Amino acid sequence: MNYHDYSKDQLLVRIEELERLNRQLLKEINDNHTFSLSQVENLGHWYLDLTNGRATFNDKKINILGYTRDEMPEFVHYSFFTNKLHKDDYDPTMNSMIKAMHDDTVNYEHTYRIQAKDGTYRWFYDLGKVVERNSEGKATLVAGIVFDITSQKENEVLLRTQNQQLLERVMFDELTGLRSRSSILEELKFHLNQNVSNTHVLSIAMVDIDDFKTINDTYGHLVGDAILRKIGEIINHTIRGFDIGGRYGGEEFLMIFPNTSLAQGHRAAQRLLERVSCEVFEGIRVTLSAGVTEHSTETIEELIELADKKLYEAKKAGKNQVKV
Ligand code: GH3
Ligand code: MG
Ligand code: MG
Repeated sequence: MNYHDYSKDQLLVRIEELERLNRQLLKEINDNHTFSLSQVENLGHWYLDLTNGRATFNDKKINILGYTRDEMPEFVHYSFFTNKLHKDDYDPTMNSMIKAMHDDTVNYEHTYRIQAKDGTYRWFYDLGKVVERNSEGKATLVAGIVFDITSQKENEVLLRTQNQQLLERVMFDELTGLRSRSSILEELKFHLNQNVSNTHVLSIAMVDIDDFKTINDTYGHLVGDAILRKIGEIINHTIRGFDIGGRYGGEEFLMIFPNTSLAQGHRAAQRLLERVSCEVFEGIRVTLSAGVTEHSTETIEELIELADKKLYEAKKAGKNQVKV
């Protein structure tokens, strides 16, 4: 820094700028704020002179981004930082700053991504406040602190992904890909609650594989599993968009047919039985039996019990059929 080359005007501007910064720093020392804050790991301090756009900051603010003090220019314009903002974060961050500049009751507070020297993005939580205004009320100096919250954000993303995976595991049966027992019951509860005034028709079907124990005993459990998986696929392909199929138990399936009368539910179950009986699974023919009921005023337990009763009738009548 060679002030000999400065014109008088440039020197005056520089003196003014340094005085402004100095005032704020002295005030902070007096308030004894900085000592405790500086002990915090990953905490950057910054000052933004709005008369010329120059930023002053501690080493931490730039070290977090992979820069050292030596490689920074003598005067750093704020655009050094804002140009590195993630494109999705640029406008919201700038708008937040502009708002704080015009309104004393609003602090600048923002979370954004900024590109480090190695090209990766880091997450910052940035907090600032206009600390000086000129005689016309225009903001001249903003002071702020900034935390590197990258690891917290990465944890957040990881937790969200894991949460989603867990949710899917709970919602779907691993073997068949159909809804799990708890999920299909949850769906049925939801549909019945929606239908308290009984304005919509709704049917359900309880479906069971015929003689599955014999299939297991004859061909082994792995073949049995493959058959369950295939039937899950067929159910998914056979049902219409609003229908829902779930694995109710070992080789039992519960189907929900919303907006579907008993006669239509009967046809839907019949269609599924025909599709499965036409299929040959590794040389084995498999059939299903089903019981279908339409909801009127029953509770969820009563409705399922009715469908179960019909299923039992279908079994007693010789299997491979639907009873309504
Ligand atoms: P029915 O026609 O009267 O329904 O006779 P079933 O043999 O199908 O009925 P049962 O209740 O006697 O036997 C059901 C069989 O389903 C017994 C059980 O081992 C088998 N099972 C249940 N869950 C699974 C599974 O996840 N994989 C395999 N491979 N078999 C299963
Ligand atoms: Mg069975
Ligand atoms: Mg069974």
